[in-house]
Amino acid sequence: MKKFLKLSLVALLMIALVSFAGCAKKEEQKVYKVGTEPTFPPFEMTDEKTGEIIGFDIDLIKAIAEDQGLKIEIVNLGFDGLIPAVQSGNIDIVASGMSITEDRQKEVDFSEAYIDAGLAIAVAGNNEGIKGKDDLQGKTVAVQIGTTGANKAQELKDAGIIKEIKTFNTVDVVMLELINGGVEAVINDKPVTEAFIAKQPGKIKIVGEVLESDSYGFAVKKDNKELLDKINAGLKKAIESGKYAEIQKTYFN
Ligand code: GLN
Repeated sequence: MKKFLKLSLVALLMIALVSFAGCAKKEEQKVYKVGTEPTFPPFEMTDEKTGEIIGFDIDLIKAIAEDQGLKIEIVNLGFDGLIPAVQSGNIDIVASGMSITEDRQKEVDFSEAYIDAGLAIAVAGNNEGIKGKDDLQGKTVAVQIGTTGANKAQELKDAGIIKEIKTFNTVDVVMLELINGGVEAVINDKPVTEAFIAKQPGKIKIVGEVLESDSYGFAVKKDNKELLDKINAGLKKAIESGKYAEIQKTYFN
């Protein structure tokens, strides 16, 4: 009986030790979750060979994290779910070609801008009727949900120009809809549309002027100054060290 008690005590002690060690380990290595919607080349996309999420934003946030000693994990989310996810703490950082806008600045905090972009109209390669914004009169346009492109389309609809807006979850489907003739035009970020054009030349083309210029930033939960400062410091270092230029060379040509 005595022996049995002794053994139980030893077993209990061991269990306690193991679980304590487990907790301590978890605490010392926080993994920052980086949310992204990966149908947005060359900023975030799935590597067809490995299935891994790659892209300009991904390499840049990885470089920043490495410089700042942060462990990160890339999380695939819908674009319209990114801001709620960072607000609720489900993710720590948004790295998803997200334009810095006044409305979003009320909901999250942005890093310094890390690249300039802007909205462009795209049509099918053989469309000769639409040459710019004014030709969208009475037309149906596709956009990605929750984006600045979707907002712009709504603005043009409210102004009595666009007739109908078709909203999709991902940009690859937006582009498919255009190629398949389901819509007459798309409003999307210019560098991203250019990447789709490069993949299937002749099927899509950009027309008219840039509708609106903007810049992308990484977003964090409001008032998470500690993390934001690290992102900004890492970004500055990436630019100064030439790492930023190297990443840019990898994804833009
Ligand atoms: N830059 C656009 C926005 O912020 C589109 C981003 C995206 O689709 N990933 O709304």
